[in-house]
Amino acid sequence: MQFRDLKKQYQVLKPQIDEAVTKVMTDCNFISGTQVKELEKRLAEYVGVKHCITCANGTDALELAERAYNIGKGDAVFVPDFTFFSTAETVADLGAEPVFVDVEEDSFNMSPAALEAAIKKVLEKGELKPRAVVPVDLFGQPADFEEIFRIAEKYGLVVIEDGAQGFGGRIGDKRACSFGDIATTSFFPAKPLGCYGDGGAVFTDDDETADLIRSLAVHGKSKTDKYENLQLGMNSRLDTIQAAILDIKLTAFIDHELDGVNRAARIYSEKLNGAVEVPEIKEGYYSSWAQYTIKLKDSETRSRVQAALKEQGIPSMIYYPRGMHQQGAFKNIPYEGQCPVTESLCSRVLALPMHPYMEENDIELVCETIVKTI
Ligand SMILES: *Cc1c(COP(=O)(O)O)cnc(C)c1O
Repeated sequence: MQFRDLKKQYQVLKPQIDEAVTKVMTDCNFISGTQVKELEKRLAEYVGVKHCITCANGTDALELAERAYNIGKGDAVFVPDFTFFSTAETVADLGAEPVFVDVEEDSFNMSPAALEAAIKKVLEKGELKPRAVVPVDLFGQPADFEEIFRIAEKYGLVVIEDGAQGFGGRIGDKRACSFGDIATTSFFPAKPLGCYGDGGAVFTDDDETADLIRSLAVHGKSKTDKYENLQLGMNSRLDTIQAAILDIKLTAFIDHELDGVNRAARIYSEKLNGAVEVPEIKEGYYSSWAQYTIKLKDSETRSRVQAALKEQGIPSMIYYPRGMHQQGAFKNIPYEGQCPVTESLCSRVLALPMHPYMEENDIELVCETIVKTI
C-alpha cells in the first residue's frame, strides 16, 4: 500500500500529462511559458483572489509574502508550534523572531487564545514588535480565521496564511489561500495539489503587493525591464513543465480528487470512531485532507500500532515528531513551556495512508489492523 499513491494518479492522468509535458519540450518555453500565466489565472479564480504569483516552492512563497510586508529584525511573528519547519524558518531567515504558539487539540491548528496570550507576553517584555501571524491550514483544514482576524486587528498584525497543506479546503464557500491578508501554498508532490517537482504560489488581492512579489521573485526586476534591478530579490519561478502538469492536475483535483479524499476520510472515521481519536472538522469547514491523522492513547500505543501496520505492508507517518520549540535550529529562542498541546500531540499522532484513489478494502485493512492492535 502507498501512503500517497502518486503512481496511481499518474496512471489515471498519463495521456494528458504526457501530452502537456511533450508540448513544453517541443516549444522549448521552459521558463515563464504561457502555461505559467494561464495556470496563475486559473488558480486565482479557483481560490477567489485577484492575483496568484507562482514561484519555486512553498518555502519561497512564504519568504516572498513576508518580504512583501517588510518583515525583519525586531519583529515578532507568531507561528504555530505544531507545523512543518518552513513556517518558522522563513521568519527567522528574514531576521525576525518566530514566536511559537500552541495549537488546539481537536483541529491541530493555531489556538486563538494561545495567540492572544503570546502577543500580550511579547508586548509586556517590550523587546520585539508584534508584526504578523502565520496561521497554518494544517493537514488540509483551514485555521480559525474569524477568531485570528479579530485578534490580529486588535493588535495590528498582518495575517499571512500558510496554505501549503490547505489548498482546496474551505470555510463555508470561501476557499483556503483567500483568508490571509496574503496567502501561500506549496505544490510539493505530496501536497493536496502537487506537481512533479518543487513549486509554490502566493495569493493576494492587492495590486501593488502582487507587483512587488513578481519583482522579488525575479531578482528584484522592474516591471518593464528585466535587466533593471530595483531591489535585491530571489530567483524563484515555477517551471513551465510544472505549470503544464498542474493545469491537468487542477482539473482532476476539482473534478474528483477532492471528493475522493473526503470519501476516504469518511470511511476511515466511520470505521475508527470509538476505537481511536479521529480527526475533527469544524462545523462549516471542509478539509482537503493533506493528512488523515489519528491520535492514540500514548506513544507506546502508537509504536505498537505503527509496527502492526508495517507488518501488513501499510505505511504510516508521524507528522510531527517534535514542535518548533524542540528544533535544534531554534534552541536560542526562549521556550517557557507554553505549548503543552503540541508536546502531547507529538507523542501520539499518527498519519494514515490518504489519497484520492484509495480503495475501500485498503482502508478497511488499515482500520482492522489498528482496531485489533490497540
Ligand atoms: C510543505 C510545507 C511548506 C513548504 O513547502 P515546500 O514547497 O516544501 O517548500 C510550508 N509550510 C507547510 C505547513 C508545509 O506543509
